[in-house]
Amino acid sequence: MNVAQRTPTLLDASDRSFLTGRFGPRALFDEPLAPYTSWRIGGPADALISIEAASELADVLRWSFKRRIPRFVLGSGSNILIGDGGIRGAVIRLGGEFASIDVATEGEEVVVRAGASASLALLTAGAASKGAVGIGSLAGIPGSVGGALRMNAGTDKEIGDFVRDVWVQTPTKPDAHPVSVQYYYRHTSIGRDAIVARVSLVFAQGDPAGVRADMNARLRRRKDTQPLQFPNAGSCFRNPPDERAGRLIEAVGAKGWRVGGAEVSGLHANFIVNVDSATALDVATLLARVRRAVLEQFGVELQPEVHMVGEFVA
Ligand SMILES: Cc1cc2nc3c(=O)[nH]c(=O)nc-3n(C[C@H](O)[C@H](O)[C@H](O)COP(=O)(O)OP(=O)(O)OC[C@H]3O[C@@H](n4cnc5c(N)ncnc54)[C@H](O)[C@@H]3O)c2cc1C
Repeated sequence: MNVAQRTPTLLDASDRSFLTGRFGPRALFDEPLAPYTSWRIGGPADALISIEAASELADVLRWSFKRRIPRFVLGSGSNILIGDGGIRGAVIRLGGEFASIDVATEGEEVVVRAGASASLALLTAGAASKGAVGIGSLAGIPGSVGGALRMNAGTDKEIGDFVRDVWVQTPTKPDAHPVSVQYYYRHTSIGRDAIVARVSLVFAQGDPAGVRADMNARLRRRKDTQPLQFPNAGSCFRNPPDERAGRLIEAVGAKGWRVGGAEVSGLHANFIVNVDSATALDVATLLARVRRAVLEQFGVELQPEVHMVGEFVA
């Protein structure tokens, strides 16, 4: 939403009192969201609630549904651009029991059971140590399991290739329940209202040393090709069919283009880096400029991969 100024909070005194009573210091009001994102950009949430158990999530879902308060679930914040006006309503962060990871060998398979807030980096390391074949394709992706599920994150293979089951919680069915999910390139059929609670993944079992070597080689390649020293959100645009967005962006000469504190990376053209206290508006303006240039020169309409959420105030 483009607005001149951020709109007022949607929470009244009774909402604040409910959240404070239920979550104590884990409910924060008017909390700036920039520190919770990899871009280090984003205005305040009306409420930022840290949820540690499925029963707590169910309570928040019931409250927000009854009060018609919009919700947004934040993972590790590595694929989102939050507007400078922040997010109205409740922003939910999962932790506690949602951070669990269990990796087991079952017959010829490696089975991983993980909560939605578990770190993908810890999951990949644990699965690689048991020889999970294909886990290297998820190595180096800096998100949570829930965010990875929503995005169908990956490289040559995607997380959806390994999913056995997914459990979600929704406002109309607040207790955790299994759902069947369709996986597409960087998105899934998971409904906007559904919050992923936990997942299980299955891999064929191979030689752990070989799997670890493949993973380490991929991690080294990332270090050489991605501008990881600056805050960023990975690739900004999806690759068009049979093409790479980065190649098109480089070909229009966009490397080094700058708006405010945001810059198109000189190392990887599909990355926008926050080089000097960039605002969301800086990034959004740069994204639009790049998109227009690629459209004019190549007739290709790039689609953003990063999710743009909240209020983009001028
Ligand atoms: C340096 C770098 C490299 C990257 N490389 C890759 C890559 O190789 N491949 C790739 O695919 N991505 C890559 N990414 C992007 C990003 O890491 C992934 O998309 C990641 O899976 C996002 O997870 P997150 O927890 O950070 O999600 P967030 O950014 O917090 O959220 C992304 C979306 O998922 C939703 N979401 C989060 N948690 C849940 C949940 N529990 N239930 C339902 N919805 C949820 C959010 O509401 C939002 O819409 C990269 C990012 C960076 C910064």
